[in-house]
Amino acid sequence: MTDHILVLDAGTTSTRAMLFGRDGRCVASKAKPLTQHYPRPGEVEHDAAEIWEYTRTAAAAMIERAGGADRIAAIGIANQRETVVFWSRRTGEPLARAIVWQDRRTAAICRDLREKGLEDAVQARTGLLLDPYFSGTKIGWALEHWPQLADAGDDLAIGTVESWLLWKLTGGDHATDATNASRTLLMGLGSGAWDDGLLDLFGVPRASLPRITDNVGELGHTRCFGGAIPVTAMAGDQQAATIGQACLSRGEAKATFGTGAFILANAGTSPPSSRNRLLATVLWQLDNRRTYAIEGSIFVAGSLIQWLRDSLNLLSDADESDGLARSVADNGGVYLVPALSGIGAPWWQPDARAAISGLSFSATRAHVVRAALESMAHQCHDLKAAFAADGADWATLRIDGGMVANDWMAQDIADMLDLTVERPAFAETTALGVAMLTGVGCGWFADLEEAAAMRGAVECFEPAIDGVTRDRRLTGWRDAVARVMETSR
Ligand code: ADP
Repeated sequence: MTDHILVLDAGTTSTRAMLFGRDGRCVASKAKPLTQHYPRPGEVEHDAAEIWEYTRTAAAAMIERAGGADRIAAIGIANQRETVVFWSRRTGEPLARAIVWQDRRTAAICRDLREKGLEDAVQARTGLLLDPYFSGTKIGWALEHWPQLADAGDDLAIGTVESWLLWKLTGGDHATDATNASRTLLMGLGSGAWDDGLLDLFGVPRASLPRITDNVGELGHTRCFGGAIPVTAMAGDQQAATIGQACLSRGEAKATFGTGAFILANAGTSPPSSRNRLLATVLWQLDNRRTYAIEGSIFVAGSLIQWLRDSLNLLSDADESDGLARSVADNGGVYLVPALSGIGAPWWQPDARAAISGLSFSATRAHVVRAALESMAHQCHDLKAAFAADGADWATLRIDGGMVANDWMAQDIADMLDLTVERPAFAETTALGVAMLTGVGCGWFADLEEAAAMRGAVECFEPAIDGVTRDRRLTGWRDAVARVMETSR
C-alpha cells in the first residue's frame, strides 16, 4: 500500500523530511540544522554535499518509519529559493560552496547594472528587481571568481537547491521547476524559458543550466532508498506555502511571518507587472501553463520580537508579547518602525534605520511591545495598498509562520486590514503545499482544488474595530514612517 507522500524541505536553516497521509496529516518528520558559512561580512554559503547528506538521511529515516520504499507513493521537494549550487556532471559532487539567497556579495554588480539603466528592462522580462537576492548575479560572480567553475567547461552543472537534490535522487537528471527558475533573473516570466539576452547580461552559459519543468509530473525516479520511488513535484518554499494555504484563485493571499515576512497573492494566469516595486513571480506551472503571483517581503518580523527579547530584554520569551499587548488599552501614541536592517517592500530603503517614537513618561514596556506587534499589521496594510495599486488586491489573508501563534497579532492584522484573516491549525504550509502538488502528481488527487482538502481546519479572525480607530492608528504610523524616511535620505 502506497499510503504516504514524502516531502523533502531543504530550508535555509534546516533540512527536513516529512511523511504525509492522504488526509493531510503529517505522521512523522525529521529535521537537522544546516551549517551556515559566513566567509566575509555579507557573504553566506552552504555546503551542498551537506544539504544532500542531511536530506538523504532524513528521507531514509522517514521511509524506514513508513515501512519501506514501496509504502511511499511519491516524493516532493520544497526548497530555499535563489540559492545556487555548482557541481560536476561527471562526479555528481559540488565544485564550490553554494551561494545562499541572503548573500550580498553582488551588491556592486547590481548597482552598476542599475546605474546603466537596465533595471526596467530586467523587471519587464523577469518580474524581479536588480538585487543580490536573486541567483543571476551570484552565478555570474562565481564563474568570474572561482576558476574551478570556468575550468570545468561542459562538466559544470548549475542549479538551485531543488535541482541539485533531483540530480542526486535520480542519479543525474538535471531539471528545475518554473517557480524556482522564476527567481534566477534568467527566465522570461511570460515564456517560462531561459532568455538568451539575460544569460548574456549575467554571463551564464545556457549549457550549464537545467531544463525548466512543470511543478508536477514524472520528474524522475529515485532508487536511493531501495525500490524505485517517483519524484512528482518540486516548488520554491514561498510558492509551496501559498499553495499549502490553498490560495488557488486570483486575489487569495498568504503571509508567512517567520524571521521576516513574505506575502504572496495569486495574480491569475497573465504575467503581472508591478509599478510599486513588488515582485512578479510564477506561483505554479501545470501542463506548461503558468499561474502567477505578486510578492512583497517584510525584512523584519519575528526577528523584531527576538531583538526585543535578546537585546532590549523587554521580553523573557516571544509568547509573553501577546499578554503584554493586551495589558494596555492602546499603544499610548507609541509607534515602532522596525527598519533594523533597512526597510523592504514597498519602500525598499536599505539605509533606513528603526525608530521608536511617541514616547512619554506614561509609556511602559507594554506600549513598546504592543507597538512592535502593531508594526506587523501596519506593514501589511501598506503592502495591501501596493498590491491593490498593482491590480492584485487581497480578497482574504491567510497567515502562517512562527509568529502567528500570537492571537493578539492575528486579530490586530484583521482589524487593521479590515479583512478576514485565516489561520490554519496545521502551520507547516510549505511542506503541505508540496504534499498537495505531489499528491496531484501521483494521482491521489485530480487537481489542486481537490488536494486543498489536505489543508484541514482553519480559525478565522474577523475585523472588530471601528474606522475612526483604524484611521487614527494609520495616521500615527504614516507619520512615524515619514520621519524614518526623512532621516535615512
Ligand atoms: P523561520 O522559519 O524564519 O525560522 P519561524 O516561522 O519558525 O521562523 O518563526 C519564528 C519567529 O517567530 C521567531 O523570530 C520568534 O521571535 C517569532 N515568534 C514565535 N512565537 C511568537 C509569539 N507568540 N509572538 C510573536 N512572535 C513569535
